[in-house]
Amino acid sequence: MVVTRFAPSPTGYLHIGGLRTALFSYLWAKKNNGKFVLRIEDTDKARNSEEATQAILQAFEWLGLKHDGEIEYQSKRDDIYAKYIKQLLDEDKAYKCYMSREELDALREEQMANKQRTKYDGRYRDFDGVPPEGVEPVIRIKAPLKGEIIVRDGVKGDISFQAEDILDDFVIARADGSPTYNFVVAVDDALMGINEVIRGDDHLSNTPKQIVVYDALGFEIPKFYHVPMIHNSEGKKLSKRDGATDVMEYKNMGYTPEALLNFLVRLGWSHGDQEIFSMEEMIHLFNPEDINKSASIYNTEKLEWLSSHYIKNTSNTDLADMLTDYELILTSHDKKEILLDALKERAKTLKDLADMAKEILSTPENYDEKAAKKAFKGDAITILNTFGAKLSKAENPHMPTDYHHLMEEVVNEMEIGFGKIGQPLRVALLGKMGGPGLDVVMSVIGKTETMLRIANAIT
Ligand code: GLU
Repeated sequence: MVVTRFAPSPTGYLHIGGLRTALFSYLWAKKNNGKFVLRIEDTDKARNSEEATQAILQAFEWLGLKHDGEIEYQSKRDDIYAKYIKQLLDEDKAYKCYMSREELDALREEQMANKQRTKYDGRYRDFDGVPPEGVEPVIRIKAPLKGEIIVRDGVKGDISFQAEDILDDFVIARADGSPTYNFVVAVDDALMGINEVIRGDDHLSNTPKQIVVYDALGFEIPKFYHVPMIHNSEGKKLSKRDGATDVMEYKNMGYTPEALLNFLVRLGWSHGDQEIFSMEEMIHLFNPEDINKSASIYNTEKLEWLSSHYIKNTSNTDLADMLTDYELILTSHDKKEILLDALKERAKTLKDLADMAKEILSTPENYDEKAAKKAFKGDAITILNTFGAKLSKAENPHMPTDYHHLMEEVVNEMEIGFGKIGQPLRVALLGKMGGPGLDVVMSVIGKTETMLRIANAIT
């Protein structure tokens, strides 16, 4: 069974890069009818926050990414880590190192002065003397000091590291007994049965150390997929400005979960030139072997394009439900179909859609100065008056066509072009130029509100 995991450290918000590897891991588990584990790596007590954990869970919920089983918290697993540290000590695969901070600093300085790689020199590896007083030891693992460590990576192929160049007997437990990062990741992945690790390639340098831990404990090494980073259009690391922000910000900006997930899956993965993927298709088609070897580029226009695609293809009933998150209550509006049909073609985001709808539904408080100057000139007021009078006598105008006929009648009777009524009426109704057809606007706001807006403009 394929078991994947997402293992965020709750030190900040969940951002796009993290979410993308979470999605890949999720898809791969689902495709194989496997399991997707969510593990919160909350061992760094100084930098963790409960708020960040909640933000991750909230984002998962919003996007519909469901993990299997209970959420695992590293902070609750101290006993397990202690047990394996003891095992390594007992098996002489790890040892206590009494080197003081000062000694370690002196060693570093010396190595730097000699232009050597800074590394622990193994001085307590075979120590069997009397430990120095007053030093709480750290625990170091006996790492291979020579030979090759091969990371079998499904994205990058086999990557060979020379133990000599990268390893030393690294610390697996600090002087206070707390285990270190690479140790707990390896122990957890092994105990949780994770056999396929999909994560950002910023973790590649940790992998040889984790392999040392797997080997020492006799655990099976999982298959790794190190996913290249996401870059901005200038080929640099994503910054806040280009989208490296809290995933929930995407919700505030009005993106639908479908659009965001579809956008993410295409960051570093492709299937021919297909752009639109439903969740079912993603699950069906995703394979981590197809992850690109080079960095992917974050492209806001692409996200907006996907977003508008999903908005256009969402039913008005569903849209009305979704818009409640953007403070627009349309669910029981009798003209919501007409309104949304007219607006959804041009909305990039749900927020856009909500804003456009709100503009139509609220009585303008003032008029755009330029538009008013242009629209309310010549016989505009007479025309508005004529239209208003006609409307007041009209019996139950309801649909856009009803309003269109009324406008047509005025145009014919007064022998004017449509623009002559259109411009002043638009500014009267909406306060500015632009927006959907006036027949739609009037049908949506209804006769009474239309009359009110015309009266406001005339007086
Ligand atoms: N906790 C690590 C992070 O948030 C990820 C560890 C891993 O995927 O192996 O960067």
